[in-house]
Amino acid sequence: MQRYQLYIDGQDVDPQDGVWFESHNPYTGEPWAEIPRGGQADVDRAVRAADRAMREGPWAEMTASERGRLIHRLGDLIAREADRLAELEVRDNGKLIAEMAGQVKYLPQYYYYFGGLADKIEGAVLPLDKKGYLAYTRYEPVGVVAAITPWNSPLLLMTWKVAPALAAGCSVVVKPSEFTSASTLVFARLFEEAGFPPGVFNVVTGYGAEVGSPLVEHPLVKKVSFTGSDVTGKRINEQAAGQLKHTAMELGGKSANVVFADADLEQAVFGAISGIFAASGQTCIAGSRLLLHEDIYDAFVEKLIDVASQARMGDPMDPETQVGPVTTPAQYQKILDYIEIAGGEGAKLLMGGGKPTREDIADGWFLEPTIFGDVRGDMRIAQEEVFGPVLSIIRFADEAEAVRIANDVRFGLAAAVWTRDMARAIRMTEKLEAGTVWVNTYRAVSFMAPFGGVKDSGLGRENGQDAIYEFLQTKSVWINAGVTSGNPFVLR
Ligand code: NAD
Repeated sequence: MQRYQLYIDGQDVDPQDGVWFESHNPYTGEPWAEIPRGGQADVDRAVRAADRAMREGPWAEMTASERGRLIHRLGDLIAREADRLAELEVRDNGKLIAEMAGQVKYLPQYYYYFGGLADKIEGAVLPLDKKGYLAYTRYEPVGVVAAITPWNSPLLLMTWKVAPALAAGCSVVVKPSEFTSASTLVFARLFEEAGFPPGVFNVVTGYGAEVGSPLVEHPLVKKVSFTGSDVTGKRINEQAAGQLKHTAMELGGKSANVVFADADLEQAVFGAISGIFAASGQTCIAGSRLLLHEDIYDAFVEKLIDVASQARMGDPMDPETQVGPVTTPAQYQKILDYIEIAGGEGAKLLMGGGKPTREDIADGWFLEPTIFGDVRGDMRIAQEEVFGPVLSIIRFADEAEAVRIANDVRFGLAAAVWTRDMARAIRMTEKLEAGTVWVNTYRAVSFMAPFGGVKDSGLGRENGQDAIYEFLQTKSVWINAGVTSGNPFVLR
């Protein structure tokens, strides 16, 4: 068993209560690492270190270009360590090495992009309606950032917060998911080598109530950037509102994949499969609702099942594996419960529906890729986020009905449209209520493209130039260039 330490103020430290908890390998069901169980005292120590880094010392004094160079160097170190970090994530969250290797190798691009952006944030000289003044704006870092992350893609989703926050000049305290903390703790060690001053980046691991909540509550934390479930996100947002903190919320989804009869059906089948079965459905952007035009419903379902049933389940460390286990036993049970609910609601089970019977994967938290047909938009299986490999197929008759069904959920993270009719595609991109809409593709993300949700899927944007402004606030500066005042009691 590997025992890890917290990373606070540039040092590896034990949790103050001296307690660790076990992290499990979802493929074997066995514990493999001991993670520090942080608490209020550790949070306080980390936040104070982050606050010090913002106010004094080299980080506060650095030019944006110097900050950018450090961020760039961090990207280089991640590239060097990518294989090791990807393996750690697979061991901890059960996602496929085939996906994680690519994902972690892609991470440096975020640091290069935001490192490059750091010194390109320009204020403006304001064209004033008053003579005799010079006024301009400057963008300043919001302050200490609390970054709270989920278990499905720990380093990627942390990077979406950390890279722009550092570029903006903030310091960060990360609280990773208690289920997948190891990679973030190992990642932290790269900061010193990259040359970051102590306190700029800190990691406190532990449970939501014991670390997450005190972090949100800490008066020196000025921004809470959260990725996780909508239930937790709303609770955190309320808590942060008590101190008027800035928040960004990347929450869940129930994304619609809408296929019209004129689409390239083979490509749309691949899109539907990657949308729901990649990462065993444990992605916020999972295309968990497949809306099929009635004219192609039967043919599409036949092809879908044909391809999906060939998915290779197995050891996530095997590059040939296509479907791995789910990450936690609680999530596993939740998915099974939803499968039962769907059956009870009258959805038609077309494929999968339970634990695979194979001996070699019996110890892991595996679930068969599962497809329900004849789903109605008002069923729970069509409304609630399952976060597992469960697809709901809904039939529609025309464009208006497709839009109505697609938008008739409380989430709005992503959606996709499959059609060869570009006028229709454009109409759909305008009408679909989602932060991201794909046309004839699914699951495309980039450091350059803003990402985030509408409705219950969240607030704020990550990635792209929008992201850095999430960590900046505007100051207006007025300089008197020769105006004299005769009356102290008036607004100038
Ligand atoms: P979760 O909400 O249970 O936990 C997320 C994080 O919040 C964890 O680190 C957890 O310890 C912490 N937390 C829990 N209670 C807290 C509290 N009271 N105060 C502060 N922190 C607290 O989510 P999860 O189960 O880890 O992740 C799955 C969810 O995340 C899904 O709903 C998924 O859709 C969503 N998600 C969203 C995105 C996105 O970008 N929109 C990306 C990935 C995952």
